[in-house]
This record gives sequence, C-alpha cells and structure tokens, in this order.
Amino acid sequence: MAEYKLLTHAFGTKDLPTLGVYEKLGGYQGLREAISKFTPDELVAQVKQSGLRGRGGAGFPTGLKWSFLPKDVFPRYLCCNADESEPGCFKDRWLIDNNPHQLIEGVLIAAYALQVETAFIYIRGEYRDQRLLLERCIDEARSKGYLGRDILGSGWNCGIIVHGGAGAYICGEETALLDSLEGFRGQPRLKPPFPALKGLYGMPTVINNVETLSNLPHIVQRGAAWFAALGTEKSTGTRLFCCSGHIGRPGTYEMELGTPIAELLENHCGGIWKGRKLKAFQPGGGSMQVLLPEHLALPLDMDVIQQAGSALGAGAMVFMDETTCLVNVSMRLVDFYKHESCGKCTPCREGTYFESALMHRLEAGQLTLAELATLEDICDNMNGKCFCPLGDTATWFVMSAYRAFRDEFEAHCGAGTCPVAAAQVTALVPA
Ligand code: SF4
Repeated sequence: MAEYKLLTHAFGTKDLPTLGVYEKLGGYQGLREAISKFTPDELVAQVKQSGLRGRGGAGFPTGLKWSFLPKDVFPRYLCCNADESEPGCFKDRWLIDNNPHQLIEGVLIAAYALQVETAFIYIRGEYRDQRLLLERCIDEARSKGYLGRDILGSGWNCGIIVHGGAGAYICGEETALLDSLEGFRGQPRLKPPFPALKGLYGMPTVINNVETLSNLPHIVQRGAAWFAALGTEKSTGTRLFCCSGHIGRPGTYEMELGTPIAELLENHCGGIWKGRKLKAFQPGGGSMQVLLPEHLALPLDMDVIQQAGSALGAGAMVFMDETTCLVNVSMRLVDFYKHESCGKCTPCREGTYFESALMHRLEAGQLTLAELATLEDICDNMNGKCFCPLGDTATWFVMSAYRAFRDEFEAHCGAGTCPVAAAQVTALVPA
C-alpha cells in the first residue's frame, strides 16, 4: 500500500476546472451510469457495499447514513459540508480548486440516490475564490443538462445552491451548519432529532463532506466491489492527508488506507526537517489527541488509530520535531477553541476561557503544581459534558499531551519561563 491517486489522478491537467476538459477525461460518466443503471435504492446499496466512510471527521459509513432517511417524506435535502476549518486541514479547498466538477458530479450522484431536488454546498466564508469557481462550474453543468430540469432525460430535477459561511468554525458541526443555512446564528441543535429525520427546514437531510462526495463518481464507474478492495477491510478507499509542521515537503497526499504512517512521513513528506527527530504528531487535525514516534508504524486506518487513542479525523497530519514545546502547542490550540466556542453552553464557554488562562500562565512558567491539577479538573468538567463535540475536543489534545509529556508540563510550573524555549536559547549560546 502506498500513494494512490484516485480523487487526484487528473490533477495538473490543463484547464481541468472547465467542463470540456473534465468531460474529455470521462467526467459526468458516473452520473450517467448512476441514473441509467441504478434505481436510487440500488445506488444507496452500492455505496453501502463500497464501505465508503465519511471523510469529514467522524468516519461514519456513508451508505448507512443515507439509509436513515425516512421513506416517502419529501422534500429532503443534501448539504455538502465545505466549511473546512479544522486546524491543519486544507484538502477540501485543494479538491475544489483542482477539480470542482468532480465534487459537483458527486453531489448530483448523492442527490439522485437520495431523491433530492435541492442540494446545497455550504462553503466557509474565507473560501471566496472556491465559491465563485463552484458557481461558475454549476452554471456550466446546467448548460449541458447535468443539473436543472429533467436531468439527462431522466425526469429528475435537481439544483445546487452554493452558500458561503461567515467564518465560524462551529458551522462545520452539521446542525450548526443547518441553522446557519436557514439564516439563524450558527449554533448546534439538540440531537435527537437527527438531521436524517428533521434537518434543514425540518425535513430529512443528509450532510456529507467534500472528499466523501468526490469519491462517488469513481465508486459508480469502477464498482462498489472494486472500491471495497482498496484500502483495508473497514477503512476502504483512499484518503487525502494534509501534512504540515516540521517536515521537508508539506502538502496534501492521497494515500491508500492501510499504508503505514511512516511511509507517508518518510517517502512523501520528506521526513522530519533539518535532520531532527520526531517528538509527536497529530493524525487528524487540531482536535485530535497527540501520538508519539512509536505510532508511526501504525497503518492509516480509522479504527486502528482510534484504538491507539486518537483519530484520523479530518485528515490533517501535523508533525512536531524534538524542539517543540507541547505546552506551547496546547496553549495555541486552546486559544483557537476559546475563540471559536459559540457560547451556547456553560462548560465550553466558561471552560475554554479558564483553560486558556491557565495554559498562558503555564507556558509563561507562572503556574503552580497545584494549579496544574485545576487544569485537569477543568478539562474533566468539559469532556463529555458539553452540548456539542467542540467542547470535548477543546480538551483532547491538551490532556493527551499532558499524559504523554507530564514531565514537560510539570517542568513549566514555577520556572518563570518556558523551559523548552530556554533550553534552546542556552544551546545556541557559545560556551
Ligand atoms: Fe457552543 Fe461550545 Fe457548547 Fe458546542 S460545546 S454548543 S461550541 S458552547
């Protein structure tokens, strides 16, 4: 198992984001085949059989999610979640920039399977260029009969609306996304009812990520069994990994699932930079728990990484070399969650505030050992006790780093400075 270009195979082709070039490369054949070969229910069964799991973070089986829609309740909606905001994550933007028609075709295949007549692409506000690109491509696709009325003579009508967010990380949470789409302040809704039963405008709704939907043209054209044979038994297909941090070649790499993390790091990312050693890494973005060098041997498999105490999440790999202060990284991530907390529930709104204040004092070497216990207590009162996953994830990295690097956290207490940074300065001063 190694790098495998499925979603990215045509990247680099001149003018790929135009309909003519995309069609020449077989574009929209997946949609034609989906409509001509399968009924909507058969298509849902195909996606189930492919083993495709969500690429947005939770890794829920896509076909199973689709099958939760109640029969005979219409209208129903499809929302493509393009509100990519996870720290370290930039793969959805890359997919849209390089091959927007692949996503539009995926949205249409899903809409056909779900018998949806109005689909939305909810895109983060900062992705203005990508929003304009998608709108242009949707117009192109409509002009050739791939969307609109009586699509490819099937009698099925479907439109796609691109909706820009306003820069709130929480709108990537599916129910906050729906509230935002309806024109309300983007805040999570109480579940149940789940969106499959009562989603957008109170109607059955499916929310899928950009990368998840971009897989669909390939699953239809190559077959569910072919896709299921790619990757591992429970993590099928490929995934895009956004690799950043202290590495030689940062970038996005599409890997067959099951490939060892070490291969991604050494053969594609150029290893840890400047001849240094790896200290720690995050396998799934800012929300996920820290992993250690011994975990490099693990395969890129959603369940295996979960058993190791973290998750592949949104596919953002952040590598940290031996000079990194894990307290400093934790502080910066906590600040992010404090800033992005929507304020709806007390444990998260207040917890992230106090967590951040303590982390700043810890990084400055001003916290006492007793106060370090308070940090643990605050995280304990947040994890599993918040209204939505943001509050939980605001504690995951900090607590995992604290467990793995307890000595480093304790060394900060009363030091009057960051001991990791101070040691590096000392090393630079000539004897
Ligand atoms: Fe809002 Fe945080 Fe509560 Fe989620 S956990 S509802 S982001 S305050």
